[in-house]
Amino acid sequence: MRDFHMSDPVAHLRRMQPDTAVIYFCPDVLQATARRFLTGFPGLVTYAVKANDRTEVLENLSAAGIEAFDVASPAEMAAVRRIAPGAALHYNNPVRSRDEIAAGQAAGVVSWSVDDPAELDKIAVAAQGAEVAVRLKLPVPGAAYDFGAKFGAAPDLAEALLRRVADLGLRPAMTFHPGTQCEDPAAWVAYIHAAAEVAQRAGVRLARLNVGGGFPAHRGRAAPELERIFTAIAEATRSAFGATPPALVCEPGRAMVAEAFTLAARVKAVRADGRVYLNDGLYGGLSELRDMGPLDRLRLVAPDGTPRSAAPEPRVVFGPTCDSLDRVPGTLDLPGDAAEGDYLLFAGMGAYSLSIATRFNGYGLGDPVTVAEL
Ligand SMILES: *Cc1c(COP(=O)(O)O)cnc(C)c1O
Repeated sequence: MRDFHMSDPVAHLRRMQPDTAVIYFCPDVLQATARRFLTGFPGLVTYAVKANDRTEVLENLSAAGIEAFDVASPAEMAAVRRIAPGAALHYNNPVRSRDEIAAGQAAGVVSWSVDDPAELDKIAVAAQGAEVAVRLKLPVPGAAYDFGAKFGAAPDLAEALLRRVADLGLRPAMTFHPGTQCEDPAAWVAYIHAAAEVAQRAGVRLARLNVGGGFPAHRGRAAPELERIFTAIAEATRSAFGATPPALVCEPGRAMVAEAFTLAARVKAVRADGRVYLNDGLYGGLSELRDMGPLDRLRLVAPDGTPRSAAPEPRVVFGPTCDSLDRVPGTLDLPGDAAEGDYLLFAGMGAYSLSIATRFNGYGLGDPVTVAEL
């Protein structure tokens, strides 16, 4: 289908009547979010590529002034290098094959993270002249996923690793990741104080402290106040490190990209008992609905673009594949006059949608359609 550069998603739906799910991208929204981070965060802003690795995302972030990227694989390094040859690469997947390490070195990675002595030995030569950030883990409540369950060194191990990083002549840093969609600044505050303690016990002065991603997107409740988190991070760093604070780094994925995309799925059928079948679901752009709870900002429009406005009713909603797991958990509140052929628009769908969607059963998402506004 040709992209007519429509002004907004409903205009595109009305004109094209797409019978496949469509995801819409608004570059202005993405660039405005990037500027919000660049203005508000008290340090270097990097983008976690895994949240959405589309070329148009990387290009617009680069145009907005993002000059460093958090990458986890050689393919992500190549994606960044294609659009920003001079960008700084931070390779923060702490488990790497030897071939991946060689790829990181060849790509000029400037920062590596580590959470295990054997992994540190593996990168010690490739990381000469670069920064190595010890990844700390604490049990942190309040995030949708506990990232500490997979990666990170507990404080005693982190202290030993940090000493060894310094002994190897590498630039010592620390990092943590509080978990994704983390709405409570207290998670960052706890980590920053714990990192300062580890560094002090190791007797190592940190060049930088990377406070991870995990910043919340607008999802389910009011729009999050990122600035409150930025302020808490700045204050905690001052109080934990005193006169010689490390430079700060952050690596948002979700909060950077979520708002810049809206997903539209078509209603394939409404059964007599009220169940709704969409042409996108958990194997496509909606996979996060399984783990992340409900979305609020839904709009249902008729094929001619008129909003459906009958009183909302809770509906069981299925995706299009033949797998019975392909069902939105719980129910979605949809207008009571929902009908076959309508389009359901989900706001805030830029993160972990395109990057995760499969082609299972011949469904999934195509290339985004660029719009002037969402
Ligand atoms: C996934 C990830 C991020 C981005 O997380 P968001 O919750 O999307 O902000 C940042 N850093 C690391 C190390 C990650 O694994």
